[in-house]
Amino acid sequence: MRVLVINCGSSSLKYAVIDTAERRELLSGLAQRLGSPEASLTIKAGGEKLERALPGAEHAAAMRAAYDDLRARGLADGLAGIGHRVVHGGQLFSASVRIDEQVERGIESCVPLAPLHNPPNLLGIRICRELLPGLPQVAVFDTAFHQSMPAHAYAYAVPWAWYEQHAVRKYGFHGTSHRFVSARARELLGLRPDDHGLVVAHLGNGCSATAVRNGASVDTTMGLTPLEGLVMGTRSGDLDPAIVAFMAERLRVDAAKVVDLLNKQSGLLGVSGVSNDMRAVLAAAEGGNQRARLAIEVFCYRLAKHLAALAVPLGRVDAFVFTGGIGENSAPIRARVVAWLAVLGCRLDPARNAVHGRDSGGRITVDGATCALVVPTNEELAIALDTAALVAGKN
Ligand code: AMP
Repeated sequence: MRVLVINCGSSSLKYAVIDTAERRELLSGLAQRLGSPEASLTIKAGGEKLERALPGAEHAAAMRAAYDDLRARGLADGLAGIGHRVVHGGQLFSASVRIDEQVERGIESCVPLAPLHNPPNLLGIRICRELLPGLPQVAVFDTAFHQSMPAHAYAYAVPWAWYEQHAVRKYGFHGTSHRFVSARARELLGLRPDDHGLVVAHLGNGCSATAVRNGASVDTTMGLTPLEGLVMGTRSGDLDPAIVAFMAERLRVDAAKVVDLLNKQSGLLGVSGVSNDMRAVLAAAEGGNQRARLAIEVFCYRLAKHLAALAVPLGRVDAFVFTGGIGENSAPIRARVVAWLAVLGCRLDPARNAVHGRDSGGRITVDGATCALVVPTNEELAIALDTAALVAGKN
């Protein structure tokens, strides 16, 4: 089956055409800086890259240009459905769903929980419906996988009315990646579907870790918003919440501004002063930059502490799993984290780690030790597979 996968952001539109039978991407595209004179569309297909200027184009015009290109390549005709990444499904959605009016209203009702993300996600759905009427559309939520968390994991110890009246609780994100990667890790390790415990670390520009017991998320590091938990490219992760009021007073700004700084000017970028990009921070540290070194130490130490904590709901850890741009590609970061996890029986195999576990079924630890594994994520494929299953009526 051929599926169009859409990830519609506030000023960008990312898409891919996936052949689900072959689990292969046929084409991918990215429209950026939408709504500005610099708007452009980049298309990658068959090893070639094409860039087109689309000055002033908004989302609808970009989608039209993308679709015209798909038609010209003969990729539009056989499409079986469209899968949309939707960031927040609140407590309404615990799995991917076919989109109808009621589902759209549900996504709309979650806008207060993700004011920057759900509106462009909805816009993408509406544009596709106009452009490709009659083609089934599916919503795949970042939060859905974590709806299986028990109340003792998702409840914050705050006045209960905050939860009852304002839906304040831990939701978790990156669910599509955690679900895909944990299923793949289970396969690679030959574990039983009804008897396994995995801790998955998704380390991209955003970072989160999840405890997966028997295929279900039982706890995760991100919270009401993606700000909670691990240190990330520009996000602080956990901190003393009193810092928000403290810094608002010091900087003479409101709380929302401080939260914005915690989201956009913190994390690796904040500590290193160099970059939010791990490659650049590693290079600076290599060159002797002390703050870059500290940023890496803070990142790895805090990550290891969270990974160890996520062993608690599992009882038994079959593997710690690394994925995302950093998790899949950075041997030095994995080495530091695995070293901290010695307390839980992990022992790195440096040769396996250097080649990202490619010759050892993903394993980067020595045989007999608690396993650490590298498993590449593929969120587009996961969205396409859900879409294909729902279109075929299998879910
Ligand atoms: P993602 O959001 O999954 O694309 O991941 C982006 C992050 O992965 C950025 O911080 C990149 O610097 C990081 N990354 C990608 N390749 C490498 C690498 N070879 N070594 C270290 N970090 C990497």
